[in-house]
Amino acid sequence: MINVIYCLAFEHDIRLVMLAAFICIAGSLTYVQLLRQCLHSTGLARVSWMGISAAALCTTVWCTHFISMLSFQAHVPVVLDPVLTLVSLIAPMFGFFIATAIVIYGRTPLTAMIGNLTLGCSMAALHYVGMLAYRVDGIVDWDMSYVAASVILSCLFTAASGWAFNRFSNLRFNLPSVALYALGVISLHFTGMSAMEITSLSISDTPMDAETFMALSIATAFAGMLVIALGAATFFLDQDQKKAGYEKLLRMAMTDTLTGLANRNAYMDDLNGRIEKSERKGSRLAVIGIDMDRFKDINDSHGHKAGDAALIALANSFKAQCHSGELVARLGGDEFAATKEYSTEEDLEDFLSRLQSALNTRLQVNETTLHLSGSIGVACYPDDGKDSDTLRNNADLAMYRAKIHASNTICFYTASMDEEARQKRELAASLAQALENNELELYYQLQASVKSSKISGLEALLRWTHPKLGPISPSVFIPIAEESGLIIRLGEWVLRRACEDAAGWDTQDKVAVNMSALQLTQVELPRIVHQTLLETGLPPHRLEIELTETAILEDRDRSLHVLRQIKALGVKVALDDFGTGYSSLEILRSFPFDKIKLDRFFMSEIEVSRESRALVRSVLSLGKSLSIPVLAEGVESAAQLSILKEEGCDEIQGFLLGRPERMDELIRLRSIGADMDRLINTADPLTESGNLKRIYSG
Ligand code: C2E
Ligand code: CA
Ligand code: CA
Repeated sequence: MINVIYCLAFEHDIRLVMLAAFICIAGSLTYVQLLRQCLHSTGLARVSWMGISAAALCTTVWCTHFISMLSFQAHVPVVLDPVLTLVSLIAPMFGFFIATAIVIYGRTPLTAMIGNLTLGCSMAALHYVGMLAYRVDGIVDWDMSYVAASVILSCLFTAASGWAFNRFSNLRFNLPSVALYALGVISLHFTGMSAMEITSLSISDTPMDAETFMALSIATAFAGMLVIALGAATFFLDQDQKKAGYEKLLRMAMTDTLTGLANRNAYMDDLNGRIEKSERKGSRLAVIGIDMDRFKDINDSHGHKAGDAALIALANSFKAQCHSGELVARLGGDEFAATKEYSTEEDLEDFLSRLQSALNTRLQVNETTLHLSGSIGVACYPDDGKDSDTLRNNADLAMYRAKIHASNTICFYTASMDEEARQKRELAASLAQALENNELELYYQLQASVKSSKISGLEALLRWTHPKLGPISPSVFIPIAEESGLIIRLGEWVLRRACEDAAGWDTQDKVAVNMSALQLTQVELPRIVHQTLLETGLPPHRLEIELTETAILEDRDRSLHVLRQIKALGVKVALDDFGTGYSSLEILRSFPFDKIKLDRFFMSEIEVSRESRALVRSVLSLGKSLSIPVLAEGVESAAQLSILKEEGCDEIQGFLLGRPERMDELIRLRSIGADMDRLINTADPLTESGNLKRIYSG
């Protein structure tokens, strides 16, 4: 040890030793960083990185060795063998490459050890081949114990640095590993130099002078630094590119590709951040849910391209209306959301009115101008919720409320909305229970032909008596069943029960069954209908499915496909509630309906309003031109019936004939197959079953 220190301090030019040490540390640092790069890449890229690492380390060790060797003051003339000097640079490169490969591909402690020992041996080989090229004018004696010590030291340090490489892999710059690699190189060189004993003979070769040695050292250092810097530059360039790539990916993952607005992930991240900030600052935050009106219609009637264009137009007008610190995101479909920190109510109102005017965008699609509109719901932190989920949920509740009122409305969340939602959830659960326990009932309402006065069919209407709340109207529980998806099972139950009942009647009257939009989207609906008919023995022509335009337009193509299959079974299809919704001629043309049911809304007006009567007339003539019979719903008075007779209506249904009744009640009263005029003469439209009871019990 003392020998090594003596050799280092007194037999070397200390300035050059410092230069060599600097190169050694810089090179080791580069090698460690490049080694990481090898680990994080694959295939050809990994092999290339291994090549660059091996070249950088080899250059580092060689330059350290060469400069240190030149700094050695041998006090005798020295010459360098050019061939061996070159061999000492090139040959170990392979050793370094193989050693690096063992470390990278092995990935076990044992292979890491073997790889690093190979590295240590390659360094030693480089040093001693280099020393062979160093020819002095004298006798060189080698102390083999120092030679052995130098090899062991270099191997020990490289093995330790390999361990440190894994142990401190979490550090941005793994300095422990770098220091150990550098120590390996330095200890090898100076212990190796201590092994050399020179006795001067002074023969004729021209010795190299100190200036030449210095110049050569600086040139070597320069060339070495160049290679190391190149390695480092490659590493940083790659890191930079990876960072840019990562940032791009992150941006893509956070942006909605269609509109360029923030997407759901970005919105929720941002919202959570803002909630934390508001909590710290004690400030207020508005969470806003935005939903476009009639987006489905735009898609259905103008195509998906127009739908996309509408979303983009809306997004652009949101962007134009937003100030800094305000965020609008697209969460999916036609669902948007916004957030705004605010200090005064005016602040929030200003933002909301900007959002509202952004919503009122016009869009030119081919020849038509579409007027976009939407509904806005607002929930505020901290009053309406303290976490993002609650706030989003409550903003949505408010938005749904806004949607019910009219378009372009802003609704603020109130606690009663929560209560309503809770009640709905409870009702949905009890309804599912009622279905399970067979507590639901079917009532039937008569339909009659105006011309023949004969009963032509019966519409099945679902009835539910809640154990605590009493009878609940289907207008209340059907939408709840639709929302919860229960309508599928409920609808199947209704269909089966109606078919079973009708199959047991003495007459050949049709039974009409209502179907919801969700049922219509089921591809297996035709199979279910077919199977129910087979199992109940009802002839297909006695079943009539009733659906509304809205149900068909939910998913127009699929609905029409399902309907065609059902019609192919021989089942009749009626268009329900006609005249209230879109009343689109297109729908009537695209499917051969067996009946149009004129909505009962017209009956309440027909006696007093000329307009209503004109509308009824036009629907009736439309039916005639398409050869589709029209049934008027909600006929309550003889006056209404006589107008309908005048206008040439085909069938009627309503309290005038009777209210919906239980099947056993209808059978008991023998009202099925009864004559319309007899029913009308004694009907009492004020009670649900009084009219029929009086006819048959009297
Ligand atoms: P809808 O299909 O239009 O059924 C006719 C509704 O009008 C029934 O109400 C019936 O009681 C009522 N009505 C009949 N005649 C008159 C009248 O002269 N005047 C007045 N003011 N009303 C009359 P209900 O039974 O309350 O059913 C309401 C709606 O619930 C139905 O309208 C239908 O859309 C839905 N619904 C009922 N049962 C089912 C079902 O089994 N499945 C499905 N999907 N929906 C059903
Ligand atoms: Ca109906
Ligand atoms: Ca109806």
